[in-house]
Amino acid sequence: MALTYQKRNLDNIAKLADNTKAAALKWHAFLVTNNIDILIYETIRTEEQQRQNVAKGVSQTMKSYHLVGQALDFVLVRNGDTDWNGYKRPEVQKAIAEAKLLGFEWGGDWSGFVDKPHLQFKYKGYGTDTFEKQEGENNKVSTSFTDKVTIPNTAYWQAITLVQEYQAKGFKCYADPVYYKPFETPKDSDAYRFVVETDYKNASLVSMELKARGYTLTTWETM
Ligand SMILES: [Zn+2]
Repeated sequence: MALTYQKRNLDNIAKLADNTKAAALKWHAFLVTNNIDILIYETIRTEEQQRQNVAKGVSQTMKSYHLVGQALDFVLVRNGDTDWNGYKRPEVQKAIAEAKLLGFEWGGDWSGFVDKPHLQFKYKGYGTDTFEKQEGENNKVSTSFTDKVTIPNTAYWQAITLVQEYQAKGFKCYADPVYYKPFETPKDSDAYRFVVETDYKNASLVSMELKARGYTLTTWETM
């Protein structure tokens, strides 16, 4: 029997990175075979969506596996409706056990920030899964933007100048306020952070370049 949201599930799974997608498809087939009605309501997220989730408190990290196509969020469907308290039900526990056998880690096993809808596929580590087998839309999510070089505290005018400079060089970069004040036009002296996202090799070059120019950087981090 088809699941209630089978098309939506498969559309969402199609957005995942290659190896995560293969594992998720096996999991979905298990759900169908065992008639466990689950909705996979989210898989890949853009950085902007993730930023909003962190701001809302529903996620705690900008290093989410969703950003790199290695995670999915699910919920049980009962009587045509999502059951957000259904994670302890035997059929869901059975589905979770199968997901673990397939190599997923379940957010419900975490201590601290428990994330019951969340399954992530580690593969060879964060951001290691590929998008080689994908076509079209999903290629926009590039796995090469995996590192971040950040100047944690600089003046607004300086951050904006750097954004223009590094964008002109072809980098993905942006300036973020250290203290977010909605509806206010930033003043030149306001505290901002400047961030460049790029692959490991370029991150190290950008980092050296900025240090040589006297900026204090946080060590670059893998997203
Ligand atoms: Zn999640």
